[in-house]
Amino acid sequence: MSKKRFETEVIHGGYHTENYHDSLVPPLYQTSTFTFANAEQGERRFAGEEAGFVYSRLGNPTVKILEDRMAILEGAEKALAFSSGMAAVSAVLFSLVKSGDHILCSQGVYGCTFGLLQLMKEKFQIDHEFSRMDTKENIRKAIFPNTTCIYVETPINPTMQLVDLQMVAEVAKEKGIPVVVDNTFCSPYLQKPLELGCDVVIHSATKYICGHGDVIGGLAAGEKTFMEKVSLTTQKDIGGIMSPFDAWLLLRGLKTLPIRMDRHCENAQQIAKALADHPMVENVFYPIWTDNKIAEKQMRQPGGLISFTIKGGKKEAHAFLNQLKLIKIAVSLGDAETLIQHPATMTHAVVPEDARIKMGISDNMLRLSVGLEAWEDIWADMKQALE
Ligand SMILES: *Cc1c(COP(=O)(O)O)cnc(C)c1O
Repeated sequence: MSKKRFETEVIHGGYHTENYHDSLVPPLYQTSTFTFANAEQGERRFAGEEAGFVYSRLGNPTVKILEDRMAILEGAEKALAFSSGMAAVSAVLFSLVKSGDHILCSQGVYGCTFGLLQLMKEKFQIDHEFSRMDTKENIRKAIFPNTTCIYVETPINPTMQLVDLQMVAEVAKEKGIPVVVDNTFCSPYLQKPLELGCDVVIHSATKYICGHGDVIGGLAAGEKTFMEKVSLTTQKDIGGIMSPFDAWLLLRGLKTLPIRMDRHCENAQQIAKALADHPMVENVFYPIWTDNKIAEKQMRQPGGLISFTIKGGKKEAHAFLNQLKLIKIAVSLGDAETLIQHPATMTHAVVPEDARIKMGISDNMLRLSVGLEAWEDIWADMKQALE
């Protein structure tokens, strides 16, 4: 069968109506367990000698359709769904590292990923360090004999610095170290880390994959043998699996991913330009501006997120938020509604101040997730609050 385009696969990928009583939409298998016709069949299913579902923590048909669709969209052999983005991050990391190992990270990571790295260090002696990953030499310098995983976010949250994924993958290949990429900010529509040579892709499905602000979920995709190992160990035994209903909602949200992303990106471009021209705004951090060369190389479009600093400090940043009327003050991103948050006191409040400043997150920085409203209305709200 010929390979179909992304816009078609978000709607049809991984689902075959003939296997589901010709139901147009994937059915919701809201069940915890599955029955065996007899004892022998139960034995065969547990032994893995016969295909079929056993218990929903080990697999569920609705969740499986989402996993199969996601694997197609990321160009992966296999994908797995989790109860949250952090469940996906922790299941993948705990599959790759053991006590005494070292993780090399991009300069900034999601606040709770930072927290998880701290926990791994304190409880399991799994060390980590951050690198700008701006040249091959700098990446090589930060790799030690016990480095067993390279973990990258790009664009980096919330500074929008970019990491050249192909370059990281090339250095990692020399050393035989797997590269894990948190692709939440882009979705597979804007960026395909596996095509660039990386090994595992992670998503907080809560964000653009869902797109409607009504699910917390996570996804991870990669090579079949590795994902099977995750499935049979850290996913099954730690247990952060996705519920069938959440998978059903995500299958629904995914259908419009390309259309939504195009609109998020169009709106963001207008808002970024307007912000850059406003006298109360100090700096605008937007992927094509932070690093045009890398953005053009690996991103289809610059995305729907913008960070910016306003003149003043925390007091002025909070005052600005309190003046907004249409735009909602909330963490999370990728929803139809435009959301704004203050990283220093919200998503990155857990990061100690000196580390936070080193990451480039100042007290006057705000992060905007541009929604699907008319951009003129989004800007009108920002403009009145700035003034
Ligand atoms: C939200 C987010 C996560 C965590 O996902 P949850 O679904 O909230 O657990 C991880 N990485 C990035 C970049 C995120 O934005």
